[in-house]
Amino acid sequence: MSKLGVGKEIVTYCSKCKLDLAHLIVAMKDTETPHKVLCNTCKSTHAYKAKKVASPSAARKKAGTRKKRVSTEDKIINIWEDAMAKLDGDPIKYNIRQKFEIGDVIGHPTFGPGLVEKNLDANKIEVVFRGTIKVLMHNK
Ligand SMILES: [Zn+2]
Repeated sequence: MSKLGVGKEIVTYCSKCKLDLAHLIVAMKDTETPHKVLCNTCKSTHAYKAKKVASPSAARKKAGTRKKRVSTEDKIINIWEDAMAKLDGDPIKYNIRQKFEIGDVIGHPTFGPGLVEKNLDANKIEVVFRGTIKVLMHNK
């Protein structure tokens, strides 16, 4: 940008022409700010108005960098597969009379092998089967 000064041209808003037009600087406020300008178009002198700085698009919102979510079902399968991988020997046959502990792998006649994940109360356990969680009775 060329240095401003009296006699130099500047494009600024003319309040009469209602347009951004070339003006001749007739007075300076300081070394960088014109004080009065003469419109080349309508030849009127008016106070220099600083250009409104166009604000960089406020819509500069962060693009949603959403973490890839692991679905609950995937999680369950992961837990289940992990438990099956660690299982050595056979699952304990599920029996309502037997007491199971967290970490036990049981064999259910309907759901197949499952990992005891939670002890809900003295008679209920939460068991992770492949892709599903079931609450089973035990210790009856
Ligand atoms: Zn003008």
